[in-house]
Amino acid sequence: MNIAILIKQVPDMERVKFDCERGLVDRSTAGVEINPFDLNALEAGVNIAESKGCESVVLTMGPPRGADSLREGIARGASRGILLSDRAFGGADTKATSKTLAAALKKMGVPEIILVGEKTVDGDTGQVGAEIAEFLGIPHISYIEEILNISENDITVVSNIFDGKFVKKAKFPVLLTVTKDLNVPRLPSFKSKSIARKAEIPTWSLEELSDFIEKEEVGIKGSPTKVRKIVVPKAESRVCKKEKDNIENFLDEMIGDLIEKNVLEG
Ligand SMILES: Cc1cc2nc3c(=O)[nH]c(=O)nc-3n(C[C@H](O)[C@H](O)[C@H](O)COP(=O)(O)OP(=O)(O)OC[C@H]3O[C@@H](n4cnc5c(N)ncnc54)[C@H](O)[C@@H]3O)c2cc1C
Repeated sequence: MNIAILIKQVPDMERVKFDCERGLVDRSTAGVEINPFDLNALEAGVNIAESKGCESVVLTMGPPRGADSLREGIARGASRGILLSDRAFGGADTKATSKTLAAALKKMGVPEIILVGEKTVDGDTGQVGAEIAEFLGIPHISYIEEILNISENDITVVSNIFDGKFVKKAKFPVLLTVTKDLNVPRLPSFKSKSIARKAEIPTWSLEELSDFIEKEEVGIKGSPTKVRKIVVPKAESRVCKKEKDNIENFLDEMIGDLIEKNVLEG
């Protein structure tokens, strides 16, 4: 059995600034981390690999510094990592991202289990997992909160979709989208960090994937979605007003303020 875990390196969303003029996230303004939801996918993949005695591979598409996230993935238990990086991959929407990741998975020889997070904290579409499954022509189970059984040819899980929980079974190969309720991600140990630091991370460019994808299908060229505008909500701190004497006027003033801010209907 082979297991692939897809992780995305995302900016620290508490700190990152947006370039609203150009509709871009200015990634230089904040540090990066593994998308928090992907840590649950990683933990699930590593657990399965440990119980079945097989390999787990972490995969990311992104700039060269994505290698750091792969090393963290290895420190958290993955066997090895592969970075998909090429200038041609830049500006990808979910379609181009999924096609590129699907091409890499084909090149690996489609693993029996592919794990992805529920969504990312930057793009936040939650589309990539399902799209990869479509491009690979394999089943996809989303919102998994429990793994019930893994047999030689299939997996049984509990999927929590809005109005209920469903027990689902799928044959391998299968793509699984996991939720934060599935597990508690482990922390890397000192020893695993030092192993990860020395790990070799192969980089696959467009050329390495050329048997599985055309150059028109990747990056901005392969992306029908264009982000036209980013609007960042204004962060407003709490305002405190005090009045001792003229309470009636004060109340009218407060109600007026709340109506103006659409908290109360006029
Ligand atoms: C502010 C903003 C708005 C955007 N709006 C759109 C939009 O409306 N439509 C659109 O198509 N694109 C949009 N994008 C681009 C989108 O973020 C990227 O295409 C991205 O590569 C994939 O989409 P996502 O982050 O929404 O992933 P999701 O679909 O939310 O990710 C689900 C899972 O897929 C895996 N995954 C996702 N990306 C990667 C990766 N690069 N490498 C490895 N695994 C990965 C992870 O396991 C992740 O948890 C936007 C980006 C930004 C920053």
